[in-house]
Amino acid sequence: MDVKGKVVVLFTNEPPSQDEKFFGGRALTYYGRWAYKFQEAARQGALACLIIHTDPTAGYSWEVVRNSWGKEDTQIPAEPSTPALAFAGWLTAEAGARLLGLELASLLEAADQRGFRARPLEKAVRISAQATLREVRSENVAAMVEGTDLKQEAVVFSAHWDHLGMNPKLSGDGIYNGAVDNATGLGVLLELARAWAALPQKPRRTALFLAVTAEEGGLRGSEYYGRHPLFPLGKTQLDLNFDAIPPYGRPRDLVINGAERTTAWPMVQEVVRRYNFALSPDPHPEQGTYYRSDHFSFARVGVPAFSINLGADYQGVNAARANTLRQEYTKHYHQPSDEFRDDWDWTGVEEVARVGLTLGINAANNPALFTWRPNDEFLPARLASLAR
Ligand SMILES: [Zn+2]
Repeated sequence: MDVKGKVVVLFTNEPPSQDEKFFGGRALTYYGRWAYKFQEAARQGALACLIIHTDPTAGYSWEVVRNSWGKEDTQIPAEPSTPALAFAGWLTAEAGARLLGLELASLLEAADQRGFRARPLEKAVRISAQATLREVRSENVAAMVEGTDLKQEAVVFSAHWDHLGMNPKLSGDGIYNGAVDNATGLGVLLELARAWAALPQKPRRTALFLAVTAEEGGLRGSEYYGRHPLFPLGKTQLDLNFDAIPPYGRPRDLVINGAERTTAWPMVQEVVRRYNFALSPDPHPEQGTYYRSDHFSFARVGVPAFSINLGADYQGVNAARANTLRQEYTKHYHQPSDEFRDDWDWTGVEEVARVGLTLGINAANNPALFTWRPNDEFLPARLASLAR
């Protein structure tokens, strides 16, 4: 449908299905993300885009929408050449039904069918909003160790260094320490850099250690890197990302979500086996966790990219404690109480670093450059093929 100059009204997410070949089955593909829908509406020349929120389609409540969007939003200035929407926003189900004068349930049912086509709404809306812009500066921090013969090609290790700053209105010191999210990942990044620098025989490709900013503002630091890479994206072998690694001991499994969709997968499986870990699938593929950390900014520009994290299969005497701490973390997530504790057990975090180092060395020495598996519904093909 030609939406040039029009207001696109849509639901977020995608038709529910168990069929792997239909929008990735249970997993949320990038097509279902609100961010992708805004981008696509802009690419199609729409003037504005409104998402009608329902709890089942979004997978979360209106509260989450309000908390995420009812405040200052961090963005990188758009390139003049990229299309942009004049307005993008969310409507409650009630407001959406009122605006359209239609019943939402039947609309949603129609949209869930194969062959559904957008329909004209024959309505006009007037939207006005006051926006205040504030310029904020922050830095990505990069260090590198040159490779031997493939110096112009790079393996990237990344972890975000930012968190949520301070909130003086809160009781206590109001500091968002971000001990788990993401001092753990940053600690791994620093140790990897130290270990790589100490390798007596350097791998063939260059290693880039990248501490990115503004992850919590919507992966902005890594997005900026994707637009201004230090190595050509087509010569970037891989991004290995580390984000919020639970320091509660060593479970039996790792989660390396997304790696199975790249040609690095056999190598990943081999290394994971060597370290006596099992691989667990993403526990909540329907929540689209893959799109919520910095590796995704690399995937968006075509670089094979994934995070390495611990699973939750804790065994033995410390299992109960690890499970309790994991459970408790849901209360500390994105709160000032995400604070360092000296009774944490670092064995699992250390293993993540070792696996990351081995993967990185193998990737740096691998004869071929890795790619995304072609024709995968998980990522739009044009994103996966951008750089290569
Ligand atoms: Zn994080």
